[in-house]
Amino acid sequence: TPPVCPRCSAARPGGEPTIFSKIIARSVPATILYEDEKCLVFRDVAPQAPVHFLVIPKRPIPRISRVGPQDTELLGHLLVVAARTAQAEGLADGYRLVINDGKHGAQSVYHLHVHVLGGRQLGWPPG
Ligand code: C5P
Repeated sequence: TPPVCPRCSAARPGGEPTIFSKIIARSVPATILYEDEKCLVFRDVAPQAPVHFLVIPKRPIPRISRVGPQDTELLGHLLVVAARTAQAEGLADGYRLVINDGKHGAQSVYHLHVHVLGGRQLGWPPG
């Protein structure tokens, strides 16, 4: 079997509070781009592109594979905020949204988040 992603080896998929709860609570610093009652947007601390930010729900859903019909409106809201923030960040030539799930998806923080990456030509397929 291939090695587990090193970023993910400390991940706890059990649903405990994560570093993102602390960012929401402002007990861990982050560069915040947008906030409303349902979500928070902040720059990724280890950017993989010239623009790389995360859109997270304030309610700590652990991962996309755990969502249900009750989350439909919230998930739609995250995507609309992602697109609006991408526009505000000047990503007129396009960008990519990514949601990593679980071990094979290389998820390292078990608080649902939408990555938004842009500002350079991205490749496909991803690694
Ligand atoms: O999708 P995945 O769970 O792997 O991504 C988690 C992301 O959270 C990483 O891109 C990591 O750089 C970012 N992160 C962050 N601020 C932290 C901890 C992690 O932006 N304090």
